[in-house]
Amino acid sequence: MNMGKKKAVVIGAGVAGLSAASYLAKEGFAVTVLEKNHQAGGRARQFKADGFTYDMGPSWYWMPDVFEKFYQDFGHTTADFYELLRLDPSYRVISKSGEAVDIPANMLELESLFERFEPGAGLRLRAFLKEAAYKYEVGMEDLVYKPSLSLMEFADLRVLKGLLKMDVLGNMRKHIHSQFSHPFLQELLEFPVLFLGALPQNTPALYSLMNYADMQLGTWYPQGGMHNIIEAFTKIAEEQGVKILVDQEVISIASHNGKISQVHTKHGNFEADVVIGAADYQHLDQVVLKPKDRSYSKKYWDARKMAPSCLLFYVGLNKKFPKLEHHTLFFDTDFDQHSKDIYTTPQWPKEPLFYLSVPSKTDPSVAPENCENLFLLIPIAPGLEGDSEEIRAHYFELMMGRIEKQFGESLIPHVIYNKSYSVSDFKSDYHAFKGNAYGLANTLDQTAILKPSLKSKKLKNLFFAGQLTVPGPGVPPGIISGKVAAYQIVKEFKLGK
Ligand SMILES: Cc1cc2nc3c(=O)[nH]c(=O)nc-3n(C[C@H](O)[C@H](O)[C@H](O)COP(=O)(O)OP(=O)(O)OC[C@H]3O[C@@H](n4cnc5c(N)ncnc54)[C@H](O)[C@@H]3O)c2cc1C
Repeated sequence: MNMGKKKAVVIGAGVAGLSAASYLAKEGFAVTVLEKNHQAGGRARQFKADGFTYDMGPSWYWMPDVFEKFYQDFGHTTADFYELLRLDPSYRVISKSGEAVDIPANMLELESLFERFEPGAGLRLRAFLKEAAYKYEVGMEDLVYKPSLSLMEFADLRVLKGLLKMDVLGNMRKHIHSQFSHPFLQELLEFPVLFLGALPQNTPALYSLMNYADMQLGTWYPQGGMHNIIEAFTKIAEEQGVKILVDQEVISIASHNGKISQVHTKHGNFEADVVIGAADYQHLDQVVLKPKDRSYSKKYWDARKMAPSCLLFYVGLNKKFPKLEHHTLFFDTDFDQHSKDIYTTPQWPKEPLFYLSVPSKTDPSVAPENCENLFLLIPIAPGLEGDSEEIRAHYFELMMGRIEKQFGESLIPHVIYNKSYSVSDFKSDYHAFKGNAYGLANTLDQTAILKPSLKSKKLKNLFFAGQLTVPGPGVPPGIISGKVAAYQIVKEFKLGK
């Protein structure tokens, strides 16, 4: 049935691989996805234990428009797959003074909140977000869809005008501090930068588009859990005729005359006219490809600034705790000191800020009756040494202690399930370079054409997608990355370039 179709192999069934595979199949390729793990989803996998259902990675559903666009490209809509709820409050922040501040979904209420911290800040927020909306529009409609293979791609008038207006060379910290002086508001506006994996002072001011995504587009939750995204993507890929093969780790790639001829797993050899590497880029480049086929050197990779790794806990409690919120950011310690522990002098943080998610507040299906499902996350430096049971236990007690203190209730006696996950797990599960959680940091010198290229420099039929290439980390960028890589192939192969 596939006779005559060009064969595409996609390595990795994360969100970027599933997106790339679906678009290639839609464009007439016979697509096989080879996934190392037993389950598709990559960092957005799920596991079930003792009646609890845990999303292993992403928990913030931002930029619903990007998901909707993906579904519409395949004749679907979000509601075909899951019910999407807007959370209100969007999230809770524990400030340095210990105050619990709920961030409302409603813009007028949010402006009043800003006003309460700093007179005049409400109106300034309105102007700040108007500018951020413009950045979002140009950034998400134009910039992120560029394959970033040449600067000339950015030479059209709308984009050039946009770039000038968007303060691309400024940084987030300066941009925020020039307009807001209360430390709480500054930290609140800097928070989305954590998703981009770099210090606010090293993150281009263009990314205030994330503040628009946060405060105006909102925080959403797909009922049933974030893993519903992966189920939806898998269904779409299969509808398009994609074959997804799990437990198929790619171990080597054979090439001839500057082209890939076969992809090898332990269980078989796969012929390919084109390949998209949507597993961690560094691993494919430095471990799977032969030295002559590598685009970059070890030195190049060692010099990349990686986004943080994480120490995670998936916890089950045998009691309901009405005071807990769906998303809570514990910003009750020094943000800058913790950032230094991640980026400047990597070490285990003394007093980390951390994030607590309790999806069972919104979604009863993720925990047994009268129980809570907790997800705790501390960002830590990539490649950090010294991960051990003792260190994990130390941080578990530290975080649970701060939650208990904050809410005035004891939680630890109610823990009936507890599993941790950190640097070594990211390495063994995903071949993550330095155990990174979110790929490459979005610093100015690692943006667009300065990122590892979507196209191999050595092999004509090898392309890359995922969080280490353009446009960057996060589920929405992953979706876009797959689309951009697929259409680069369509441009170069199907149209016979
Ligand atoms: C803890 C955590 C929290 C996060 N929170 C959010 C959030 O709230 N919101 C958000 O938008 N984003 C979040 N992210 C980021 C987001 O999850 C990722 O950016 C995105 O899922 C990455 O998708 P990907 O397809 O690029 O990579 P991956 O999901 O890692 O997929 C790559 C796949 O390749 C496979 N693979 C690796 N090597 C091989 C091989 N040799 N052969 C075959 N297969 C291989 C891996 O097993 C994996 O399945 C979070 C990430 C983490 C880790």
